[in-house]
Amino acid sequence: MNNIPLGDDKLHEECGVFGVYGHEDAAALTALGLHALQHRGQEAAGIVTFDGGKFISERHPGLVSDNFTNQSTMQRLKGKSAVGHNRYSTTGATIQRNIQPFFADLWGGGFAIAHNGNITNALSLRDELIKKGSIFQSTSDTETILQLVARSEADRTLNRLVDALLKISGAWSLVVLTNKKLIGARDPFGIRPLVMGELDGAKILASETCALDIIGAKFIREIEPGEIVVITEDGEESIKPFPNTRSRPCIFEYIYFSRPDSILDGKSVYECRKSFGKELAKESPANADIVVPVPDSGVPAALGYSESSGIPFELSIIRNHYVGRTFILPTQSNRQSSVKLKHNPDKSSIKDKKVVLIDDSIVRGTTSVKIVELMREAGAAEIHMRIGCPPIKFPDFYGIDTPETEQLLASSKDLNEMCSYIGADSLGFLSLDGLYKAMGYKNGRDEKNPEYTDHCFTGDYPTPLNDYESEKVQEQLSLLSENESQI
Ligand code: AMP
Repeated sequence: MNNIPLGDDKLHEECGVFGVYGHEDAAALTALGLHALQHRGQEAAGIVTFDGGKFISERHPGLVSDNFTNQSTMQRLKGKSAVGHNRYSTTGATIQRNIQPFFADLWGGGFAIAHNGNITNALSLRDELIKKGSIFQSTSDTETILQLVARSEADRTLNRLVDALLKISGAWSLVVLTNKKLIGARDPFGIRPLVMGELDGAKILASETCALDIIGAKFIREIEPGEIVVITEDGEESIKPFPNTRSRPCIFEYIYFSRPDSILDGKSVYECRKSFGKELAKESPANADIVVPVPDSGVPAALGYSESSGIPFELSIIRNHYVGRTFILPTQSNRQSSVKLKHNPDKSSIKDKKVVLIDDSIVRGTTSVKIVELMREAGAAEIHMRIGCPPIKFPDFYGIDTPETEQLLASSKDLNEMCSYIGADSLGFLSLDGLYKAMGYKNGRDEKNPEYTDHCFTGDYPTPLNDYESEKVQEQLSLLSENESQI
């Protein structure tokens, strides 16, 4: 789910979705699932349930634990089926009307939808729909899907959803709740994850397997790229209505976004990250006394680097867990101070040591600059920064919060320039081939048919970028943004 304006640095989002069908504790399970997916979005959370007669919705700014532990809220959310959503945004003003799941009374009944991803042609479609009389209630691309479903003339809900999905482009992992069905859908490239599980005979859908673990559900399978699965009282129906495409899930889920204890497409995220570190140690060795991770995201890669290089691992930077992720703060100055709020070096283990400092990625460089400075203040003799992925040179348009090209450190600087910008003694990134090798592809990246979408490093986007490439649309985006701030 992405808010408009789409081309702006501030409003890019990644999200988490969850759904339950046929369980007495549907709302409580959804709250727990969303809690496990909190890393995918901390700005707002919502749950919609169906109690057999009516739909009930609770949508609030803030964390799941702040809003869905309250007895009266949870008691309101009656019913055996539910969908939920965590919203992630770097925008300052959260507007209530953008919090998902969205709900509408459509022809044929109530329809609740929660979306992870980003629709690249949402704005042009929105424009067309508005001209035809659609009244939009939010500035989210997800509402475009809802409006397309509402306008479809197909016979069944499922066919109307298919109709809508055939018109959109980009990334979408969706959960939909109607009075009879829970539906899960994943875009043809499978850019964002979506899995299915089972608990006490009830079916569960979730962005990641860690959300199944928290409720004790059994993992059944991934929703396949391009698959729509419909869960009803009578069982499960699966269709693949989209033109055949080779899937390309987003490689950044393995690098940063997914939780390390999740399994994506049969691969442990934790093991992948550890392998990135091992490969990095081979490609970019350093003469040092200790390997130190930037916690928490750099820990698995640092363990791998230490294991492969034989250099001892030290947890020399302590993270304060009571501050949100760096990117959540809306302005750059906030981001900078939050790095300091977040990390403190343990001087005793750092003083006079040559340090290999490991992080999973560099985006703007803010974190690296601050951490290198902290390590110097703590008395490190040398700092060799190593990064568990290639340089990020291109923005993401599929729902991950990366800024515009100019703000990406690697977009305009070469390795030496980046190294002096962050103030390290040396800097090394995992190569693109190294990344694929670490994920089990012996020959590295298959240039003709890459297994993943790795656009952040290569600029090779699997779908057309539509609205992002149109200047006219970009102008409209900023108008909408002004409106948004006033409503
Ligand atoms: P930066 O400080 O801008 O270079 O961002 C890099 C840091 O942010 C690293 O420590 C990453 O773990 C983390 N990071 C990378 N990508 C994202 C993202 N999309 N959202 C939030 N944090 C991120």
